[in-house]
Amino acid sequence: DGKIILVGYRTQMFTHLAGEIVHELRNPLTVIKGFIQLCGYTKEYDKYQPVILSEIDRMYTILENFLTLSLRKSKCQRMNPDEVCKSLISLLSAECVVNKVRLDYDIAYSESVCKIDLDKIKQVMINLLRNALEAFDEHTGEKKIMFRGSVEDNGYRFSLIDNGPGMETDVLNNLGKPLFTTKAKGTGIGLSLCKKIIADHQGTFCISSVNGKGTTVSFFLPFVSP
Ligand code: ADP
Ligand code: MG
Repeated sequence: DGKIILVGYRTQMFTHLAGEIVHELRNPLTVIKGFIQLCGYTKEYDKYQPVILSEIDRMYTILENFLTLSLRKSKCQRMNPDEVCKSLISLLSAECVVNKVRLDYDIAYSESVCKIDLDKIKQVMINLLRNALEAFDEHTGEKKIMFRGSVEDNGYRFSLIDNGPGMETDVLNNLGKPLFTTKAKGTGIGLSLCKKIIADHQGTFCISSVNGKGTTVSFFLPFVSP
């Protein structure tokens, strides 16, 4: 019946993902090993430290995402969207300062509440932000990110808008596929994870992009009775 198919599908997906994760972790490990050996020969620690650290960060991202995707149980609580926005903005601000990106925000007030697993929603935002920052790599001019919180009929929409390069139509068409990436060092896990987390919240996830102008990624979470 339907259940068995679902279990089978999940098992298959995780076996596939586990293979991908092992494969993905091997690359940074090889790089780290190589650079530590280089440090040993050349004693130029300052030169190689940034690469080593960035490869270690990459491993963290892969592991965090995999963990959220597979293991941790949901711990939802009733939260006002304002509180969620504040927490997301403090997360975004720090990263934007470090990456020299201008951050603007615009938050609509609402008295209603949503059921939210804040750690997971933060992780969605981190993934969306990382995508925007990575997209900015090929962007000249001022890098801007806008965070918007807006009230819709029966829920709240959280949007992240960047003025990066946007996506070509064939990239947009492929976004639904698991592990799709256009990056040499990408994993393609980020958006799949975001979609899963938002679906677990009974919400919806939406991506729109104009090539050359930028990308808007948003998720909508329904209000629950107070
Ligand atoms: P990854 O970041 O590892 O490639 P994701 O699932 O996070 O995997 O993203 C999939 C693809 O979607 C990216 O490779 C990129 O082509 C595209 N993408 C996602 N967000 C953006 C964005 N803000 N601007 C441009 N392209 C994006
Ligand atoms: Mg990503």
